[in-house]
Amino acid sequence: ATPMSIMVGVGKAAEYGALIRQGDALQTASKLDLVILDKTGTITEGHPSVTRVHAITGDEATLLGLASGLERHSEHPLAEAVVARAKDAGVQPDAIQNFKALNGQGVQGEFRNQMVRLGNRRWLESEGLQLAGVDDVAQSITRDAGTPLFLARGDEVLGVIGVADAIKEDSRAAIARLHDAGVRVMMVTGDIEATARAIAEQTGIDEFRAEVLPEDKAEVVSAMRGKGYTVAMVGDGINDAPALAAADVGFAIGTGTDVAIESASITLMRGSLHGVPDAIEVSRATVRNIH
Ligand code: ADP
Ligand code: MG
Repeated sequence: ATPMSIMVGVGKAAEYGALIRQGDALQTASKLDLVILDKTGTITEGHPSVTRVHAITGDEATLLGLASGLERHSEHPLAEAVVARAKDAGVQPDAIQNFKALNGQGVQGEFRNQMVRLGNRRWLESEGLQLAGVDDVAQSITRDAGTPLFLARGDEVLGVIGVADAIKEDSRAAIARLHDAGVRVMMVTGDIEATARAIAEQTGIDEFRAEVLPEDKAEVVSAMRGKGYTVAMVGDGINDAPALAAADVGFAIGTGTDVAIESASITLMRGSLHGVPDAIEVSRATVRNIH
């Protein structure tokens, strides 16, 4: 590889908004045959909103008061959606004591000496709550590629809040370009199977892993490298940093967190997934010029 052709390639990639921070990433990108995408903020916009508030016990305001009381202490994108919805509805967040966020599960805290929990099914069921009564609502939320959040106070299920995040308008086209380049596309997400499947179907993703805890994303990357793939990881969140570092090439979405950007070898300034096939094309052209 001549330093000159690499420089030209790095410059060309920059024109597409792909900032290459590590010189060898340009050459490695030519060999990529698997791209692993994070869901929230990578395939989707990363600004979810509440699409459904379904109360079983009590009314919508009770649900939103408790849910926003919890979520105002969290920085998760889901939390912002819940807080915004309560505000729009003119509901005051309840004063929650002993708040705790559980990675990849949900949030909890005490209100008037009762434990209140908002999070996913697996976690609430592991806490002994019976969610069968809200199955229908949850299913209709996931069918629309949304995420159901279950709210419980003590041992009582109060209802379900549906949160959905729009798919970026060009995600599907960018994934089709990766396929044209002979690259397989996988998604990893902490979200549940049904929601992941809906997103995969809408975007043409080949394969997905759902309910992956943040700390396990890097293991998925390593396992796929172990199978012989040359792997790119694309992500935006703090949670994605170890997976970005574990990949052959890490792509950080430029609008994402600093930690993700520092762990990646390429930053996509435009926030669009098109930056990935762009970088691969430039990389392949560069390598062709070298040989
Ligand atoms: P992602 O990979 O989509 O960023 P996370 O690992 O952050 O997902 O979260 C996985 C799941 O854990 C979410 O889909 C949600 O069900 C639950 N969860 C995480 N954080 C929160 C929160 N602040 N409020 C409610 N649920 C949460
Ligand atoms: Mg994300």
